[in-house]
Amino acid sequence: MKTPWELKVKPIRNGTVIDHISANKALRVLKILGLPSKETAVTLAMNVQSSQMGSKDIVKIEGRELASREVDEIALIAPYATINIIRNYEIVGKGKVNLLNEINSILNCSNPNCITNTDEPVTTRFTVLQKEPLILRCHYCERIMDQTEVQTQFRVF
Ligand SMILES: [Zn+2]
Repeated sequence: MKTPWELKVKPIRNGTVIDHISANKALRVLKILGLPSKETAVTLAMNVQSSQMGSKDIVKIEGRELASREVDEIALIAPYATINIIRNYEIVGKGKVNLLNEINSILNCSNPNCITNTDEPVTTRFTVLQKEPLILRCHYCERIMDQTEVQTQFRVF
């Protein structure tokens, strides 16, 4: 059975639907994807009722499929997100984000004295200690970063 929300929103022809985003994180997800932008139509639903999650956010992006790196980044914000690829109004691919055990180069270390924040050509590297809530440890300086800190350390921001 369709929910009233699904009836109200026009289906997209080609693009990506990101579902099961943790409630109120949709704007962060858009930021990771460099959206909104002039050319891309985005439909956003926040705090929608979900039988699995209580409430969730949904993002529909017209005319865009995600790179695997973008999917990895979304996992840091929305560990339960599902990715549906739409072509010609049909779902041609379904996937889940997958939080890796090691996060490389996406994030900056929050320790200003970390070697990755100097002029040395060292790429950042974090070990995932805990996925929910998120806790990471810098491979180089052992700084511990939690979810809140992670959100401010994205390279794209
Ligand atoms: Zn560090």
